[in-house]
Amino acid sequence: MLSKNFLAKIPQLMQTNDLMEKIVSLCKRRGFIFQSSEIYGGLNGAWDYGPLGAELKRNVKNAWWKAVVHEREDIVGLDASILMHPRTWDASGHTANFADILVDCKKCNNRFRQDHLKGKCPVCGANDFTEGRAFNLMFKTQVGAVEDEKGICYLRPETAQGIFVNFANVLDSTHRRLPFGIAQIGKSFRNEVTAGNFIFRCREFEQMEIEYFTKPADAEECHKAWIEARFNWYLNLGIKKENLQLRVHDKDELAHYAKGCSDIEYNFPFGWSELEGIANRTDYDLKQHSQFSGKDLQYQDPVTNEKIFPYVIEPSGGVDRATLAFLVDAYHEETVNEQTRVVLRFSKELAPIKVAVLPLLKKNADIVALAKNIKKDLQKSFSCVYDDTAAIGKLYRRQDEVGTFYCVTVDVDSLEDKQVTVRDRDTMTQIRIPVDNIKQYLAEKF
Ligand code: ATP
Repeated sequence: MLSKNFLAKIPQLMQTNDLMEKIVSLCKRRGFIFQSSEIYGGLNGAWDYGPLGAELKRNVKNAWWKAVVHEREDIVGLDASILMHPRTWDASGHTANFADILVDCKKCNNRFRQDHLKGKCPVCGANDFTEGRAFNLMFKTQVGAVEDEKGICYLRPETAQGIFVNFANVLDSTHRRLPFGIAQIGKSFRNEVTAGNFIFRCREFEQMEIEYFTKPADAEECHKAWIEARFNWYLNLGIKKENLQLRVHDKDELAHYAKGCSDIEYNFPFGWSELEGIANRTDYDLKQHSQFSGKDLQYQDPVTNEKIFPYVIEPSGGVDRATLAFLVDAYHEETVNEQTRVVLRFSKELAPIKVAVLPLLKKNADIVALAKNIKKDLQKSFSCVYDDTAAIGKLYRRQDEVGTFYCVTVDVDSLEDKQVTVRDRDTMTQIRIPVDNIKQYLAEKF
């Protein structure tokens, strides 16, 4: 574990980028994302999702699960534990190789990842560093009451290994045939040397990973298909095409066992950076675990009885990075009546709140009662809020700023004509709709 002293020395590499600052501040102001343990001065590299952030992140994960598990015939889900047998990490290579090379600036004593440095020290500008040394990124912990070597465990640095060690269990319990995949969402932990750029690089984060098992001869085609499918997933959820690109890894960047890897990159305010990697991992993982565990993890073809180690295509994405990309891409400013209107233009699937029900006059008991009734009815079908804590103009702005798709406003006329106003987030157009039809109207829109 790192000492507090070490943690305090890690520099905040958050870019002083205008857009990024606006997003970080909006996230705090509106309850999307808070710094972890803020009242104690915060813990670097850890973030808490507030009421709206929790909804947004859940929507991201649900959209992924729907696309890769529910809407396919060939993938099943898994939820493996974070603590795993320590031999897992010997087999996967993490104990020996999951390290960054660290250097210290001799002038200001700050510590950096060597591969992130571009010449001078980004803190003090000096160019005098210590020799590089390897720093393993896995968090060590102790399992059981006796503190000795035997009790050492690691918080998983990726979810993938939980899938590989369960390969035979899933196969035996589901009778799958190749090709098939196992998908998992869960927390991972890496003691990153320099966490930063908000939720882009954290020490505790969530991953969405698929291990897709295929016959070796089909692996290349399968890899291509997954790259396309994953790229389109981001586009379908509203990411602008010009902000997304594919980067094919050079041969010298690849792990020794990998046949190929492509990253989906997003144009973050701090530059193009990895959102998700899609790798052809060959048969390396299943072979390694067979060797280290002594269990045969080969697949036996039920027709030919032939035994093989399948190849694995691994689309591996980060929930937090995806959430940040969706936030950045949705952020939109425009001038309305000489004032800046901030709108988060989330897609319908991702918007944390779909409908806000707002009473025009909170002192009118009949308006409030009708509004609350409408909210109660709508909440069965959509994520809804009721808000009467400000004047209507302010309430609209608030909802725009968190990306709420529709505002339903109840006014004095509503009590007579039984109609309400429905306002569209993006166009701000307003239409009158009979109370009895709102549910139907919204159901069609979503
Ligand atoms: P990087 O080069 O940025 O450190 P990586 O190539 O080590 O990332 P992978 O091991 O391929 O990342 O992990 C798969 C995905 O998990 C990444 O594409 C990213 O979305 C997410 N991820 C990895 N590390 C972090 C982190 N420290 N914080 C947030 N998300 C992360």
